[in-house]
Amino acid sequence: MEDPTVKAALAAAKTNEPHFIEEEVRICEIAAPPFHEDERGKALERLFKGLSLDNVRIDKAGNVIGVRPGAASHPNLVFAAHLDTVFPEGTDVHVTRDGTVLKGPGIGDDCRGLVVMLGVIQALKEANVKTPGTITFVADTGEEGLGDLRGTKNLFNDSLKGQIDKFVSVDGLGLGTTITGVGSYRYRVTFRGPGGHSFGAFGMVNPIQAMGRAIAKIDAFEVPKDPKTTFNVGRVGGGTSVNAIPFDAWMEVDMRSADKNSLEAVNTKFKAAVQEAVDEENHRWGRGSITYTADLVGVRPPGVTPPDSAIVITSLAVSKLFGFTGAPGEGSTDSNVPMNLGIPAVTIGGGGHGSGAHALNETFDTKDSYIGTQRALLLAVALAR
Ligand SMILES: [Zn+2]
Repeated sequence: MEDPTVKAALAAAKTNEPHFIEEEVRICEIAAPPFHEDERGKALERLFKGLSLDNVRIDKAGNVIGVRPGAASHPNLVFAAHLDTVFPEGTDVHVTRDGTVLKGPGIGDDCRGLVVMLGVIQALKEANVKTPGTITFVADTGEEGLGDLRGTKNLFNDSLKGQIDKFVSVDGLGLGTTITGVGSYRYRVTFRGPGGHSFGAFGMVNPIQAMGRAIAKIDAFEVPKDPKTTFNVGRVGGGTSVNAIPFDAWMEVDMRSADKNSLEAVNTKFKAAVQEAVDEENHRWGRGSITYTADLVGVRPPGVTPPDSAIVITSLAVSKLFGFTGAPGEGSTDSNVPMNLGIPAVTIGGGGHGSGAHALNETFDTKDSYIGTQRALLLAVALAR
């Protein structure tokens, strides 16, 4: 913080914050539903070029990549934020304001991360900060939902394979540091039966009722509090009419834990519950037969960046300089991928505070949010060496 160019960059980050909050609104009003991040990606590509990053490109997973060369090409720090949101196509992405509070889907998660990244690039450029190592900035795809971390997986397995020494993801709000990557299994289970008329074919097995039995069993699971292990039936669908026995039904289920064994245990229970539910439904009615498929639609590898590793110590020390002294946290973010590979990685918040991540009424209070940009900037400088 004593280095004159770093000092100047930190000052620039603060001065530029109002501009980047306007940019955040613009970016957030470009819809980026799962698997359709391309339009927002093109905007980031233009912004990266406008900020004079080198070799700006979009890889085959839709990640927007731009390089800020250091004195050497290594260490290469990848500094990332995700483009996608959880909101489906057609969602009203208009951002409204009430004083310092912005409200709109994705305003914190992760439009905030994207503009913190832009604010860092601009401030480094303005103050002409020289780093020994290189910083590669990435606006990545597929962090949320069924995106299954496909952008980050592609970075590590293909487009930047073998070239990433450290990884920082800016995701969401606050000044926390996530060092534990919660792993998950996600399934889409489809139940099928013959279907028929609700009156005429009464007595036939019913896929929705079979699914109901499965959901009731899942709801009764006992899971450890520590290590925190969770389950959720997140979406359901099926059937054609109120007076028809459905021929299909489906549900999407998510299970999570940072602990591999606890995750495997809940996964085993889940598979047994679905099988038992189908057996019970078939036994109950005896006419027709339910079949099912449980398709694994997402696997997020669990992982931990050791608390005594340089990247964690640096991140916590930098955060402390900005008044944040909380303990490191856990989450399921782009950092899961490098954590699982043993590459030093943390996920940090983008400053400010808010509520309602993944909800339509998500808010971001911009009060003192520049501190988040400054923290990210100092961390980037500290790690690019
Ligand atoms: Zn996020």
